[in-house]
Amino acid sequence: MPSRPAPPSSDLLARFAAIVGGRHALTAPDVTRPYLIEWRDRYEGASPMVLRPGSTAEVAAILKLASETGTPIVPQGGNTGLVGGQVPDESGTEIVLSLGRLDRIRAVDPAASTMTAEAGVILDRIHDAADAADRLFPLTLGSQGSCTIGGNLSSNAGGTAVLAYGNARDMVLGLEVVLPTGEIVEGLRALRKDNAGYDLKQLFLGTEGTLGVITAAVLKLWAKPKAQEVAVAGVATPADALAALGLAKTRAGAQLTAFEIMPRQLVEFCLRHQPGSRDPLSTPAPWYLLVEVSVGTGPAEAHALMEAVLEDGLAAGLIEDATIAQSVAQAKDFWRMRHGMSEVQKHEGGSIKHDVSLPLSALPEFLTRATEAVERLVPGCRPVPFGHLGDGNIHFNVSQPVGADKAAFLAGWEAMNAVVHGIVTELGGSIAAEHGVGRMKREMLAGVRSPVEMMLMRRLKATLDPAGILNPGKVV
Ligand code: FAD
Repeated sequence: MPSRPAPPSSDLLARFAAIVGGRHALTAPDVTRPYLIEWRDRYEGASPMVLRPGSTAEVAAILKLASETGTPIVPQGGNTGLVGGQVPDESGTEIVLSLGRLDRIRAVDPAASTMTAEAGVILDRIHDAADAADRLFPLTLGSQGSCTIGGNLSSNAGGTAVLAYGNARDMVLGLEVVLPTGEIVEGLRALRKDNAGYDLKQLFLGTEGTLGVITAAVLKLWAKPKAQEVAVAGVATPADALAALGLAKTRAGAQLTAFEIMPRQLVEFCLRHQPGSRDPLSTPAPWYLLVEVSVGTGPAEAHALMEAVLEDGLAAGLIEDATIAQSVAQAKDFWRMRHGMSEVQKHEGGSIKHDVSLPLSALPEFLTRATEAVERLVPGCRPVPFGHLGDGNIHFNVSQPVGADKAAFLAGWEAMNAVVHGIVTELGGSIAAEHGVGRMKREMLAGVRSPVEMMLMRRLKATLDPAGILNPGKVV
């Protein structure tokens, strides 16, 4: 890692500002602050300038100048990342490169089922543009009103649709990328088959802005389901939830498009802090499942399929109670509760997070052991694990004991991480499932990747970014 450079001189800052035009080079502290602080307030950095380029050529000119002058650059999309990857450090030497002005949808091709969009397009807009072409872009996240497609691809975002459609990585055909040295990789190909040499786009998907800046992407679109049905079901244990998932897969196959799990405690948090929320079940259950099926035929078929999925679970004694949404509005309410699970924890004081994935068969054991371990570590703490049961990704979050001191509880973040991640690793899981490594988990990476894998990552970084200017101190 190169030594930390001095803050850029005012002359150098003027050269950067000239690339984007003064109006798009932000320096006033009240204007730059939102770019320096992350959603959870866990990291607050400092920066002499936020640059907002309006074209790929401007991004290239910025990175070329940065490489020549050794100026560190931190790419940022919607600033919703949860591992501190998009915010600068506290040194005041790093310039933020905000991609928000690259916000054009360049083309939509319904026949080929593709869309070409610039990095700064908000995910909600991608959904709307696909919908207008009678197509679906399935990536679905709680942050979709603010996060950008460039951020989604750079972090290989997951979300609630992975079970049926895969991660962000699986939804892209081609990329336009600016290398740290300023060259542009013109890879906006819309091919479903292309084995001509290395698949270079993979270097930039999920590498969290450390190897290049994504400026545009060709995205895959899917046929829009003709009808969907959403239900909430109550189960007694995670093992029952897992068995119910197995039955649902057998019954619905690829038409099972979401299978999420939430503990009763989090439903109670929602009832307390999410205005207008109601318990979806008449009899409260220890665990709640949100199940979605999507069909290409019509509402009657979707309803019949959901009924069959729930009946299978009821007949096997796995599901205790269930409610199928009676309207689009009620289905949205079920999803609002699920997507509000991170937000409502903020109202209950400090919360220590773990974004982990496990082999599905190990999930019940993980939940039992991790819950017991954190309760031993901090008596009275409230584990609230929730997430994407269908793909094995659990957000093992732990809320502070009622009435405890928030700062004192959060001071135990690393100690609790060590305990939970130890169990994850023992059971063959990952300590960074969908949010990535960023700054938060950088020190942990060498503990879960072999020396050879670490060497390869460092060599790739040194090859693509010889001056070490792009997102330094993140991931590797
Ligand atoms: P940012 O936060 O701005 O950046 C994320 C990373 O990508 C940083 O390392 C940054 O340097 C880099 N980056 C950004 N843009 C570019 C670019 N154009 N080129 C190169 N590097 C770039 N994540 C999930 O995976 N699944 C979820 O279900 C999920 N739910 C969430 C719910 C909430 C309420 C919140 C706040 C976050 C959630 N997240 C989730 C995390 C986050 O929203 C995603 O990681 C998202 O993909 C980040 O997009 P962004 O545009 O905000 O990127």
